[in-house]
Amino acid sequence: MILLGLFGLLAALAMDTSVSTGIGSRVENIGLLSRQSNGLIGSGLLFMTGCILIGLAAVRDAVDRLGTTIAANAPRTLPPVSQRPAPISDSSDTQPRATIADATKTCSKCYALASAAATKCMRCGTEFQVRPIPKNGDVLVGSRVRHPSFGEGEIEAVDGDTAMVRFDKREKPEPMNMSYLTFVEKAAL
Ligand SMILES: [Zn+2]
Repeated sequence: MILLGLFGLLAALAMDTSVSTGIGSRVENIGLLSRQSNGLIGSGLLFMTGCILIGLAAVRDAVDRLGTTIAANAPRTLPPVSQRPAPISDSSDTQPRATIADATKTCSKCYALASAAATKCMRCGTEFQVRPIPKNGDVLVGSRVRHPSFGEGEIEAVDGDTAMVRFDKREKPEPMNMSYLTFVEKAAL
């Protein structure tokens, strides 16, 4: 295809675009000129298409070769379990990770960030209500808690941050986020 294109290009360039006027001088003929340019464009397209096809074929060959190399280098089977590296067990991974949210709190009045240990807002001076933060190992079930709108109740079960609380004024236990609860009386161990 490239050869065809090149041939076409040469042929178009060699084309005589002038015609004899009979007086001895030659005049360029617009029709022939346009035919030459058509030939140039067509041949050029053929040439470029050929180049692209050859390029694609080269890329495909390279990919094929790469594929066989990878396949040849890949291990045929996984080593037996005893030879595999032991899974990395880091005890710190099982601990809850500290996040920015853990280390800070937000002022309820001005929404300024404060460190978790702060007792007063640095911006507006509001005193922070200190809430016991439940941790693993805390005995929570059976504790008396207070909720700002539901009143007092007793924790019946805990799942993560959520506690099932049977409030004194309600018949069914309600799932409550721990952060809304303050301890009135912690259950004894
Ligand atoms: Zn504040």
